[in-house]
Amino acid sequence: MIEINSSPIQKIKFLDNSFFIKRDDLLNKEFSGNKARKFHYLLLHDFKGIDTIVSHGGIQSNAMYSLSVLAKMKNLKFVYYSDHVPTYLIENPIGNFKNALKNGMILKIESLKKPLKKSSLFIPQGGAFELAEVGIKILANEIKSYMIENDMKTLDIFLPSGTGTTALYLQKNIDQKVYTCACVGDEEYLKKQFSNLIKETSFHPTILTLDKKYHFAKPYREFYDIWLKLKLSTNIEFDLLYDPLGWLNILKNRHKMGKNLLYIHQGGVLANESMILRYKRKFDEYN
Ligand SMILES: *Cc1c(COP(=O)(O)O)cnc(C)c1O
Repeated sequence: MIEINSSPIQKIKFLDNSFFIKRDDLLNKEFSGNKARKFHYLLLHDFKGIDTIVSHGGIQSNAMYSLSVLAKMKNLKFVYYSDHVPTYLIENPIGNFKNALKNGMILKIESLKKPLKKSSLFIPQGGAFELAEVGIKILANEIKSYMIENDMKTLDIFLPSGTGTTALYLQKNIDQKVYTCACVGDEEYLKKQFSNLIKETSFHPTILTLDKKYHFAKPYREFYDIWLKLKLSTNIEFDLLYDPLGWLNILKNRHKMGKNLLYIHQGGVLANESMILRYKRKFDEYN
C-alpha cells in the first residue's frame, strides 16, 4: 500500500535569494510530485465495476507513469493511447516509458478511441480532471499549517504549469497568491485550460511570462544550465521539463512577487534519465 504523508518545506538560497521549497518530490518514490496529489483520490477510492484505467498523452509523460503504478497497485489493467511513438524508443525503452511498461501498461499507438467500455475509468491527459482537487486541497492545507506553525503572515507561491490543474486548484483552496508559467503551449492555452475546469477567473492563478518562446520537451542550453546550477547550489534535483522554465521565470519576475516565496517541487525526477540523454546527444559540452 502506498502511503502519502505530508511533504517537508525547506529553506534554500539560490543566486543570493532565499526561497522556500515544498518538497512534493519526496512524497513517495514511485508515486511522487503533483501526480501523487492529482491522483490521491484514485489511490484512496475503490472503484466498483472498474477493471481498467484508460488515459492518453505523450509517451514519456509523468502522468502515464504514475497511473501505471496506481493500476498495478489496485490490480487494474492500464491502457494508454499515444499517437506517435518513435521506433527507437520501442526498440530501446527508457525513462517513464520503460518503467510504465514494466508495470504492465498496455500501449496503443493510435489516438484515443471512444466510447470506452463501462468497466473502464477514463483519466484525461495529464490528470486534468475535477477529482484532482481532492489531493491538491491537502497540499493547500499543508502550506496553511506551515504558515501558522512558523507565524508567517505573507507567502507567495510559484509552480510551473502543464495543464495548469495543480496551480488552479491550489489557488482555489488557498488565500495566498499563486503564480505560474505556461510550459506547454502559451499563455492563452493555459488560460483556456483553467477555464475548462473553473469558469470563475478569480480562482485563476497569475501567469508570468518570458520574452523568448520555448517549445515543450525540447532541450535548451539555458534549461540545462539553470537545472545544473540549482543542483550544485541547493543539492536538490529538479525536473528538466517544467522546473527550468519555472526558475527562469522566477529570476526574471522576482520583483513582482512578495518577499517570502514558496516554490513547489512537483516531482518528475524519474523522467530526467531520458532528458539527460537527449541533452548529451544534442550538446557536446554536457558529456
Ligand atoms: C505533470 C507535471 C507538471 C504539470 O502539472 P499540471 O497540473 O498539469 O500543470 C509540472 N511539473 C512536473 C514535474 C510534472 O510532472
